[in-house]
Amino acid sequence: MMNELKQIIIEEILANGPMPLENYMARALGDTAHGYYSKQDPFGKKGDFVTAPEVSQVFGELLGLWGLDFWMKSGPWAEFNLVELGPGRGTLMRDIAHSVKMHPAYLQSAHLHLLETSPVLQEKQNQTLSKVLGDTTPCHWHTNINDLLKACHGMPVIIYANEFFDALPIRQFVQENGMWKLKCVDVKDSELVPVTITDISLTDNLPAAQNFKHGDILETSPQAEAIMTQLANYVADNDGALLMIDYGYTQNQPGDTFQALADHQPVSPYKSPGNADLTAHVNFKRLADIAEDSSCRSSGPTSQRNFLISLGLEQRFESLSLNASSQQKIDLLAARNRLIGIDQMGILFNVLSITKADKALPSGFEEITRDIR
Ligand code: SAH
Repeated sequence: MMNELKQIIIEEILANGPMPLENYMARALGDTAHGYYSKQDPFGKKGDFVTAPEVSQVFGELLGLWGLDFWMKSGPWAEFNLVELGPGRGTLMRDIAHSVKMHPAYLQSAHLHLLETSPVLQEKQNQTLSKVLGDTTPCHWHTNINDLLKACHGMPVIIYANEFFDALPIRQFVQENGMWKLKCVDVKDSELVPVTITDISLTDNLPAAQNFKHGDILETSPQAEAIMTQLANYVADNDGALLMIDYGYTQNQPGDTFQALADHQPVSPYKSPGNADLTAHVNFKRLADIAEDSSCRSSGPTSQRNFLISLGLEQRFESLSLNASSQQKIDLLAARNRLIGIDQMGILFNVLSITKADKALPSGFEEITRDIR
């Protein structure tokens, strides 16, 4: 049976010409009726991929204590906004809420805001969070960053974003014979195929094509950059901290990081839009530069491994193991290795924090000097 979204995209391309990769990625993930995130819950062992909060509660607990620590160092603020961007199943926020329970004033001071475009996942998050938060900390959902920041009413923010930025659409530019060409999706023999077109309107701010080799690919994410600009401006004006965790790179460099995953396996991103998760690596250097240009301080990026260990990951796993059965001990060790193993999420994932320049330093970055400028 023909995939319905694929059919719609094919008709659009036949009518309007090749579709820029950015638009294709946005449609495949976010199309209101058929997009990947709009129609299903893709997480967990049965889904297409497993994220760190789904691996172990320890991830959310440590991040929860990170926020609590920052709040305490910052005053504490009498009122603030606790925010998550792209909360998936709501697992991270659930574990954050659990971990800070012994300091009830923290959640009582918090207004909870979630950025989520998918109605299916909003509903899932509601189910997960209403159980832990009760009526004292009502949750507000937003579908774009403008609305979310408006609802924060100029109060400080603690913002989490785990595997959010990698889901934002990218542009790809391909160096061909000394010129930048724009990667698009076209139709050939009733299939979607990648092509390149000339579009000089978009290449203005790129580094000179002559400094690259034929075939080199440069990626940008205008949406990620716009969101980071808004977040950094908000933090600079109103105080707070953003913690983002994602896979990505820490130097501006050419490379094709656009990928599709279905059922835990890499697949072609053009085969079945809406049925595979499409992601691209995050340019941490670019996002950190944007934050600093908006008068924020950036800490990191550091590896997920170093960050979680410095927040006390080993001690937390040890204490969970004390009363565990032998099977549970095996599972705990596997989860620990998954989160910090150098051949697993430990090194592939980076952590970056953005804070107001002259205010409290976030914990977890003590060992690291800024190494990406
Ligand atoms: N943070 C979660 C989920 C990561 S998947 C975890 O670690 O498990 C990406 C999440 O971002 C999903 O919840 C998806 O629906 C949401 N998302 C993707 N693009 C978005 C956008 N443009 N605006 C808001 N949410 C988005």
